[in-house]
Amino acid sequence: MLERKELLKTGKAKALYTTSDVSKLIMEYRDDTSAFDGKKIEQIAGKGTVNNRFNSFIMEHLSKEGVANHHIEVSAPNESIVMSLEMFPIECVVRNFAAGSICKRLGLEEASVMDPPIFEFFYKDDDLGDPLINDCHITSFGWANEKDIEEMKKMTLQTNDILVKLFDTADLILVDFKLEFGKFENKIYLGDEFTPDGCRVWDKETKKKLDKDRFRLGLGDVVESYQEIAHRLGVDLT
Ligand code: ADP
Ligand code: UDP
Repeated sequence: MLERKELLKTGKAKALYTTSDVSKLIMEYRDDTSAFDGKKIEQIAGKGTVNNRFNSFIMEHLSKEGVANHHIEVSAPNESIVMSLEMFPIECVVRNFAAGSICKRLGLEEASVMDPPIFEFFYKDDDLGDPLINDCHITSFGWANEKDIEEMKKMTLQTNDILVKLFDTADLILVDFKLEFGKFENKIYLGDEFTPDGCRVWDKETKKKLDKDRFRLGLGDVVESYQEIAHRLGVDLT
């Protein structure tokens, strides 16, 4: 039986605990919801448990499709056991349609098609507002080497191919998403989470926003929309 030990780190939406096995951590999904680099924070009842189940469903699907990831198993309604990774301080974003920061940065109209999908790196630092970076920043500052960079890009684009198809079967458009990677024994694994907190998802027919933009833009029904995506994908939320 894996025992929970100490709080290792706490972020804006999750907490990580060490365990009796040094190679494993417990990831706790809280109800805290944040946007604009932590400037808007609220508690949304039930979000932690929905995200935990949602993430487990996606990570298991990605595993089957060959994307190595840190997820081991769900251990409680809002907790999962994961591999302890040494994380890169980098966010990998893929965009299939324009939304969010790229619209402001490049003056694009929302929903413009990105073909082929656009890959972007961001430096994970809330105080700096997670700035856009490129490969040179990453190697120059020693955040990752060239081989790691290629692997992260490859795994992110592979994840996009797999998930665009999965979401399409549920009449959902996967607009964009953010991934984080880490290393364990010199191999790269997908870490962190894949939930509606870190992606944009629109209804195929109506283009209704069903992701964290409902919170960012104050549209309401945040958890209900996450549940709607989960329900359509066949995620067991019980
Ligand atoms: P944020 O860091 O954006 O405030 P979270 O609340 O999601 O958001 O924090 C989770 C933290 O755990 C992040 O720092 C993330 O990089 C880190 N993390 C995710 N997966 C792992 C893992 N498998 N091993 C170690 N750290 C991880
Ligand atoms: N994203 C995230 N965490 C971040 C920044 C972005 O999960 O710190 C996700 C976001 O939910 C969206 C995608 O990455 O699905 C692209 O985000 P964008 O660069 O448009 O930033 P935003 O305007 O959403 O802050």
